Amino acid sequence: MKLTVTPKLLDKESSIGFLLRLAQRNGYLSIQDLVNQSVIRANVPNVDPKSLSTFSQLANVKAYEYSSHELWKFTCSINPRICLACIKSAGLIHQTHLDATVYRCTKHDLNLVNQCFHCRKSLRWDIALTNGLCTNEECGKKLIQIDTTVPENLTREQVLDCLTMSHFISAPCSTYITQKKFVEIDDYALALENGYKVLTQKDIFVEWECRQAFSSADEYPSDLNFVSSWLVKKILRSNWPIHSIINPPKITKQIESKSEKSLWLNYNTATNILKMSRPDIMLLKEFGLIFIRGNTRLTLNSVIDISPIFRMLAVHSKTDSNLDTSIYSASLLMHQNLTSLADILIGIKNKRLNTRYLPSSDISSSLYVDMSEFREFCQEQLKDKMNLIIDLGEAVKITSLSNSVLKSIKKQGVIQSPRRNPYSDDEFCYCSDAIKIRDMNRVGQLSLALENY
Ligand SMILES: [Zn+2]
Ligand SMILES: [Zn+2]
Repeated sequence: MKLTVTPKLLDKESSIGFLLRLAQRNGYLSIQDLVNQSVIRANVPNVDPKSLSTFSQLANVKAYEYSSHELWKFTCSINPRICLACIKSAGLIHQTHLDATVYRCTKHDLNLVNQCFHCRKSLRWDIALTNGLCTNEECGKKLIQIDTTVPENLTREQVLDCLTMSHFISAPCSTYITQKKFVEIDDYALALENGYKVLTQKDIFVEWECRQAFSSADEYPSDLNFVSSWLVKKILRSNWPIHSIINPPKITKQIESKSEKSLWLNYNTATNILKMSRPDIMLLKEFGLIFIRGNTRLTLNSVIDISPIFRMLAVHSKTDSNLDTSIYSASLLMHQNLTSLADILIGIKNKRLNTRYLPSSDISSSLYVDMSEFREFCQEQLKDKMNLIIDLGEAVKITSLSNSVLKSIKKQGVIQSPRRNPYSDDEFCYCSDAIKIRDMNRVGQLSLALENY
């Protein structure tokens, strides 16, 4: 294909901008006529080459750094934004203006324009851009500057935060995230402005938080009602006024109806909020208390549904008056008996433990038990683990002795090293030995035994 006119590439011009100028100068009506569609089809799966699909090829994405951001792999923006002064002087679409963290042209001190003032339609990658005209065929008017209330000096990180917040504003109940390749925001200026407003005005943030809580199911404790707040705060990279809001607003709900709603969380969010380890999650899966999306193996990228836990708790909840101790307040007992929250949930499901479930701040302060029954349950859990090999950290929990004391006891041969761990003998022991040490220590026989060795 021979082109009659080949304009010079301008300094810092984006490839996509250059291609638009190339098409315009050679009399093409659309950029797709210029670019071989079969190439796009072959290289960019699942997208219609007539839409924005040309983007990753045309924008020369390699020129943009990898962002390591949870929402976007590259901070490159799919939707066009232009500096009207750059366009006016040379039809230039600057390379850096493709970066979503850039919202002003530093040369001209002007905000980039992403929308037509007249028809309010967002701009598309089209030849009209190089003439500073609206890309909506029915409008086609001259683009003009639109005012914004966002300060002029936001940092790159702050801009990313505002865009992140805007993502959560448009989807207030997102409980998990999937990373997209590029930033795709229809009305960039509005997204930036809305995100900024919510991050800087606490009352608006709280309002947003309440919206997510009311749409979540009755039977969830409040940390799960506010999982979007937790997520957004974790993703933000700068310090904002909303960070000083420590507790989410109090919302009192009655379990009126059992909802069938799923609660999908990223694996990391689930382990963090439920304070569970990987083996705990695996155990819950085995007992049908969580589902993995796509029914695949559990990985760091898994998205899991934890709603079956709460449906089960609502069903098994009893009203006995002696179920008056929250398992949160009995956490030391759990700790000493190597009893995890997962063990307890499975115990409830299998009717080995009676509980009353009243949604409160988190799951362990929402579960009430009878203390003596609970003690027995935890001790049985430890008995079940008798033959397991545990690490010294767990032995410390059982015995309440320090790591160094346990090591010296081991050296003296009171407890054996499991043969299965030849390389790290020091760090492991049998659970039964840890229980033996604990019992000896309780009746004052430990020091006696040590003297005899
Ligand atoms: Zn400019
Ligand atoms: Zn227009």
